[in-house]
Amino acid sequence: MKLVADLHTHTIASGHAYSTVLENTRVAADRGLEMIALTDHGPALPGGTYKHFFANLRVLPVKIFGVEVLRGIEANIMDQQGGLDLGDYFLEKLDIVLAGLHRDCYDPGSVEANTRALVAAIASGKVDVIVHPGNPAFPIDANQVAEAAARHGVLLEINNSSLTGLARKGSRDNCFKLAEHVALHKGQVCLGSDAHFAGHVGELEVAAELARKHLSDEQIINTSCAAVHQFLASRGRRRQPARRPLI
Ligand SMILES: [Zn+2]
Ligand SMILES: [Zn+2]
Repeated sequence: MKLVADLHTHTIASGHAYSTVLENTRVAADRGLEMIALTDHGPALPGGTYKHFFANLRVLPVKIFGVEVLRGIEANIMDQQGGLDLGDYFLEKLDIVLAGLHRDCYDPGSVEANTRALVAAIASGKVDVIVHPGNPAFPIDANQVAEAAARHGVLLEINNSSLTGLARKGSRDNCFKLAEHVALHKGQVCLGSDAHFAGHVGELEVAAELARKHLSDEQIINTSCAAVHQFLASRGRRRQPARRPLI
């Protein structure tokens, strides 16, 4: 299985990440990726960026070093109603919207409360990917979340950094269970490095290995740029007009 896209990466704009757009795309190109999503944290996370950062992503070329760049966000789910920390005006301009639960923005609640928050975000129509749903800090009902995601055509992420000890220790069993339920409900997953440093861009293998135990290549969106484009079109995302590659 070839993995051509890393759909979860951060730049220095996130406030606690250490590489630039050019550094991340350089590594992506060197590692043979065809696509990368820039998904800096939403404005509610302390140290993060301002809302206009996301609107201004339009200045970026479509390809950098030959790698297609999706303009995205990792938004924060703020409440049990699935509310996000960026308004529709900005979200609608993006190529891909990731969202998830983070401390500082959402206090971990009961399984029922956390599940309600994720299912509401899934059902809102504003979110394309739920990030790191296997995080043990926010326990959820894997079956309910996977069922809702499959029904609404939303991807659940298997986050590579959750499985390598870089973040969210104790995620493996939860991710395994989520992949099982995604298979049961015939949904799809998205793999993300969640790189906060360029050296981690494109690191997807541990997540891929886990996903493959339950899911076919067709259920893992990162295996084809055409599949990513098709998925985004199904979500009603209109890719920003093509611009001349600058580099
Ligand atoms: Zn996150
Ligand atoms: Zn992230």
